[in-house]
Amino acid sequence: MVIKPKVRGFICTNAHPVGCAQSVKNQIDYVKKHDGVGVTGAKGPKNVLVIGSSTGYGLASRITAAFGYGANTLGVCFEKTPSERKTGTAGWYNTAAFHEQAKQADMYAYTINGDAFSDEIKTQVIDQIKADMGSVDLVIYSLASPRRTDPDSGEVFKSTLKPVGQAYTTKTYDTDKDKVHEISLEPANEEEIAHTVKVMGGEDWERWLTQLSDAGVLSENCQTTAYTYIGKELTWPIYGQATIGKAKEDLDRAAAAIIEYAKTKSVKANVSSLKALVTQASSAIPVMPLYISLIYKVMKEEGTHEGCIEQIAGLFSECLYGDTPTQDDMARFRMDGKETNDATQAKIKALWDQVTQENFHSLSDYKGYNTEFLNLFGFEIQGVDYEADVEPLVEWV
Ligand code: NAD
Repeated sequence: MVIKPKVRGFICTNAHPVGCAQSVKNQIDYVKKHDGVGVTGAKGPKNVLVIGSSTGYGLASRITAAFGYGANTLGVCFEKTPSERKTGTAGWYNTAAFHEQAKQADMYAYTINGDAFSDEIKTQVIDQIKADMGSVDLVIYSLASPRRTDPDSGEVFKSTLKPVGQAYTTKTYDTDKDKVHEISLEPANEEEIAHTVKVMGGEDWERWLTQLSDAGVLSENCQTTAYTYIGKELTWPIYGQATIGKAKEDLDRAAAAIIEYAKTKSVKANVSSLKALVTQASSAIPVMPLYISLIYKVMKEEGTHEGCIEQIAGLFSECLYGDTPTQDDMARFRMDGKETNDATQAKIKALWDQVTQENFHSLSDYKGYNTEFLNLFGFEIQGVDYEADVEPLVEWV
């Protein structure tokens, strides 16, 4: 079939297998030539578990571990399989392409497709580690999900993207309609905050590490990290100090709990703060598409623009396996400095104050935003023939 993007609101409901494969290959190529990663003898992971391995920051983490350091990788994701009439999700095709490349490079790669919040999947992962790796020395936690079924009670919790304390009126960019407009968001109530913490807080990360520790599959000095976004004043009302920010604060609690629980193995747990960029998760957050199209403009002009793979390659070489990681007073690894420094934020704020529907195309990098959005689903990737007939049924090797 010939596959063209079907965009509905902030999501694209189909994906292009050849485009996804090319995008994975581009990230592999970046990692292979990046200074400091993959250099013979460079310190790095050997056996890695990536929870949320199929798209965005988790996929970049898996690619960096495997192709930057030669690590064996076990991935967990939640993706839809293709059928003859319907494409699979981008994460399905990314994983297929990753497996293919790993196989060609004679590298171990295995992926479990299922609900990472469930104890069934945790048990499957533990069995797989025992069978194939013995133990893991790095666990990346990169889930982004709007809901979570509590494995103890069976209750389904849903996250909410709302301000905390007071209503917030601001500008946003509607990617589907290409429109900048005002939105007013009512503050979350206590239950909505608590439910968002249940979904996106540290409880599940801690549960993973507790079960991996109990099963004896964590190596001595194993490292684990969960990803967060901290941002600055422009995004605090809808992110940092909002429901999602409250959930992310809980990761700091979980990091301390993990260190204490797995202290006999000297496990290190740190939250990593990454920069804002276009992923399936961030496109769904009000305000973020507008903010991101403005930071892309400013950071591309500054020459500091980075995507998932650049951020994660840096996280590995500078923080996880570097001798002098940038850390804040909560021991979080900080990879977001090029975005959150005062000079860059002042430039973004100046654009933010001026931006309207009329001047949006000239003030922002909306083209860059839209192209990267389509790239997530394998569209508009250079070198791919989108008129060609492609086979949607792709298996994982
Ligand atoms: P993403 O949507 O690209 O990736 C989410 C991953 O989680 C996918 O692999 C998906 O399959 C998996 N997943 C979702 N629900 C699952 C489930 N129930 N079981 C198993 N797998 C499941 O998101 P992303 O933007 O890469 O976000 C990853 C992490 O990085 C999140 O914690 C996010 O808050 C954080 N982060 C994102 C940004 C950003 O701007 N995108 C910035 C900083 C930090």
